[in-house]
Amino acid sequence: MPDDNNNKRGTPEEGQPSGPSLEDMLPPSFADTGAQKAPVDDVILPSTITPQAAPVEAKPAPKPAVTVSVTTETVYKPRDIPKPVKPKVEDEIVPLELNEADIDNSFSSLPNLIFDDTPVDEPAPTKNKPSNLDLEEDSAYHQRFYERVLRTLKEAEDLGVDGMAKARIAELERTNLLPQLIIRQMMASKLVDRKPLARAMARTQGRLEILSYQDIPGAAHELRKELDPRAQMLMRDRRVIPLRRRTGEAGEHELHLAHEEATRDLVFESALHDFLPSYKFVWHYAAREVCGQYWVTGDEGGAAVEEGLEAEALLDRIISDAIDARASDIHVDPNIKGEPKAVIKYRVDGFVRPKETITIEQLDRLRIRIENIARMPKVDLNHPNKGAFTREGFDWRVQIQPHAGRQGPVARMVIRRLQPDTMPMEKLGYPQDFTDRLIKAAKAPNGVIFWTGPTGSGKTESIHSAVVTANPMGRGLSVHTIEDPPEKRVDGYAVQMEIAEGDKARSGLELMKSSLRADPDVIIVGEVRAPDMAKLVFDAANTGHLVFSTLHTNSSIDAIVRLDELGINGFLVSYIRGIAAQRLLRRLCKHCRQPMHRPDALTQRILDHYGMKSDHATLFKANDKGCANCNYTGYSGRVAAAEWLEPNHEMLVACAKGDYTNLEEIAKRAGWKPMGYMAAQHMCNGITDAAELQAVILELAAL
Ligand SMILES: [Zn+2]
Repeated sequence: MPDDNNNKRGTPEEGQPSGPSLEDMLPPSFADTGAQKAPVDDVILPSTITPQAAPVEAKPAPKPAVTVSVTTETVYKPRDIPKPVKPKVEDEIVPLELNEADIDNSFSSLPNLIFDDTPVDEPAPTKNKPSNLDLEEDSAYHQRFYERVLRTLKEAEDLGVDGMAKARIAELERTNLLPQLIIRQMMASKLVDRKPLARAMARTQGRLEILSYQDIPGAAHELRKELDPRAQMLMRDRRVIPLRRRTGEAGEHELHLAHEEATRDLVFESALHDFLPSYKFVWHYAAREVCGQYWVTGDEGGAAVEEGLEAEALLDRIISDAIDARASDIHVDPNIKGEPKAVIKYRVDGFVRPKETITIEQLDRLRIRIENIARMPKVDLNHPNKGAFTREGFDWRVQIQPHAGRQGPVARMVIRRLQPDTMPMEKLGYPQDFTDRLIKAAKAPNGVIFWTGPTGSGKTESIHSAVVTANPMGRGLSVHTIEDPPEKRVDGYAVQMEIAEGDKARSGLELMKSSLRADPDVIIVGEVRAPDMAKLVFDAANTGHLVFSTLHTNSSIDAIVRLDELGINGFLVSYIRGIAAQRLLRRLCKHCRQPMHRPDALTQRILDHYGMKSDHATLFKANDKGCANCNYTGYSGRVAAAEWLEPNHEMLVACAKGDYTNLEEIAKRAGWKPMGYMAAQHMCNGITDAAELQAVILELAAL
């Protein structure tokens, strides 16, 4: 499928480790340890931030147990980090009377919103005092902090907080509500979500906001290799990015970490302390997708998964890794040779890449877990099985095939992510004139529109996108779909039926017949591959229905020949309103594509082939080395290249004679352009490159 798989991810909460402990709920002062309070200069901060003052009574840092290289002089400034909003003077704030229960409540209702209490321009409440005093100081301190967070939310232009939300904040502020409670209300009413809030909190404290993979400092990748493998595993499980570590003048250590909440994760900190004793942790913000990408890319392909990991946790991780990597499907392949292991692989932009290995026992536990949640029938391992489940806002389809291992059958699994949302034609890569012709064809009261191409060429995506664009639903027409499986969830569809070829009553043919009895206006039917289905589809067109379907052919011209083989010929061809044929081309990675100052030989041959001229300014080619954004491939996401054929009178006459030899000539005379033409336009627009065209478009293969 084309890119932007991420448009419907789960809310950040779903990806959070479950079950915050009591410690999580408390303000930091309740759970702090001495070792975390070591005073240090925050050299990592952007220069506009006032250095923090040292806490007055901080304990001396314990002697470090780990030797580390000191890199104090390195100050990095990631690109595109907006200037922090400088807090204004806090004079006017009058501390409110609060009791312990109030504070407790306001925090427990905001799980994980425990900020890193290293202040930017004022000392943190000092420790080692009687606890009632602590509480009072803390509450005033927290209140000032949240007031500043609110101000950031209100004033920042780049956090994606809209005018309505800003107005609502101002309105709530006038009611004298505690700032914590205002934030809670804003979140409850969905006017502000976790991402801008986390960024505002990070900014208020002068923390980094890492918004793209390139914002991660290069040294962070080195640091990862130096860390204890168990610490790495912990970070990976919680999607925490280690940014840098440094040693202060007094010899105390601190480790800078980034994750999507930009708040302290005390449970995680205490776990990490087992491997990094005497470290203080400083938290920054990194966008969720960056955290995901950080742990999916890199040099650890084939790393073994911790053996004790529960099947549920393993499944969770596999699913969220797949979403973050924009994978369309997940393969769990047992080894054919060598050790009895299975490799977890992800398909991204059409290419399958291995990620990590699990033991056969883990594979078995994973299979049982999936069989349970997907409510699959109990069959023994010698039989294939299939099912479906929903996770993180996506529908997933599972196929289990028996693989003959040396010690008996083992499960080979493919978990496919369905994209419930349709994408607009434009986003798939279709130019406006294509869409216009399609809409015109789809306005016909009856007939057949085909989408053709090999498996994985994005036919399903395009058909639904086409129907949603033509929008017969909006004209009060009834739409039925018959598919295996129904992939898209579209509001206006009246009925979506699932084909089960194993069940005679639910075969494509039977479902199509039942659908016709209900007399819908538009029918989307999975694939025409047998004469009886082809006949039924054209019967339906003949009796006043518009049918969308797919055919497994290489081009739109081939489709006419293929239909003849299926018994559709002569005047029946006149029911065809249009045939699209499409391929998916990989898009150049925008971060590392290389400008081409003059077309290279292949690019020039392609331009000549289609009689095109190009503005060299928009020609690019893939970077051989790639970058972290494209998993070092040079490409990221895909775009459709298609052709559209509407049989004209001359073609119908040829078809009636059964003479298919000149179809292409006739089509070309009528203005038909092969899909390579649209592909070359994408190339001229810098969306893809000549090498990709040659690899995907048949007629350019030998150019
Ligand atoms: Zn790249």
